[in-house]
Amino acid sequence: MPPSARPRLVLFDIDGTLVMSGRIGSRAVKRAFHEVFGVEDATTGVLFDGKTDPGILRELLELHGLGHRHCDDTRAAFFQRYLEVLADERACAETGHVHPGIHELLAALEACEDVTVGLLTGNIREGARIKLERFSLWARFPFGAFGDDAETRDELVPIALTRAHDFRRIRFAPADTYVIGDSLRDIQCARAGGAVAVAVATGGTPIAELAARRPDALFPDLSDTARVLEALGVG
Ligand SMILES: [Mg+2]
Repeated sequence: MPPSARPRLVLFDIDGTLVMSGRIGSRAVKRAFHEVFGVEDATTGVLFDGKTDPGILRELLELHGLGHRHCDDTRAAFFQRYLEVLADERACAETGHVHPGIHELLAALEACEDVTVGLLTGNIREGARIKLERFSLWARFPFGAFGDDAETRDELVPIALTRAHDFRRIRFAPADTYVIGDSLRDIQCARAGGAVAVAVATGGTPIAELAARRPDALFPDLSDTARVLEALGVG
């Protein structure tokens, strides 16, 4: 089969890649952590880029000397409250947007029979739904690998491949799998999973820092649909 005819799997990160959520996620973590663990401003100085939600919770607990409180019960209590606060933050958010070219790129990929699109994100699934439904993007992604699935992002490519198989009955090769993300951890996660790393500088990481990690493709944003499709081996 020629390379262009092989089935391709394209996996999108959410924050900084598809959308800017206007910091509703970090505000929700901060508020929920205060309510559940009693620590104010717990997230000050903590970078969330590319980390999973459960990884962020563990980091915050350790940072504030509460590592001994990490267990299934406190984790469930935290994420229950986090989702409630996130929905509340979304309802009153005044900032946030879809990044340039995303709607056009998704439409172009959906028109390709050989391409399957999914999510690969550190957000827990319900958090991803809340963030993407705000921009009518959730329904565009029939499956994904989420922060609920693994605490470490590097474990998410194989999980996404299994979900893609469940959904399409196709066994995608890692080499035909593209991980699109805005952080150094997205590039690392693609490498760990044997996938192709496509970096985009629409998040918090400067383009020079992304370039230094030598992703397979790098874009300032995803607005040049033709060039992005070419990098994805489509068209
Ligand atoms: Mg991101």
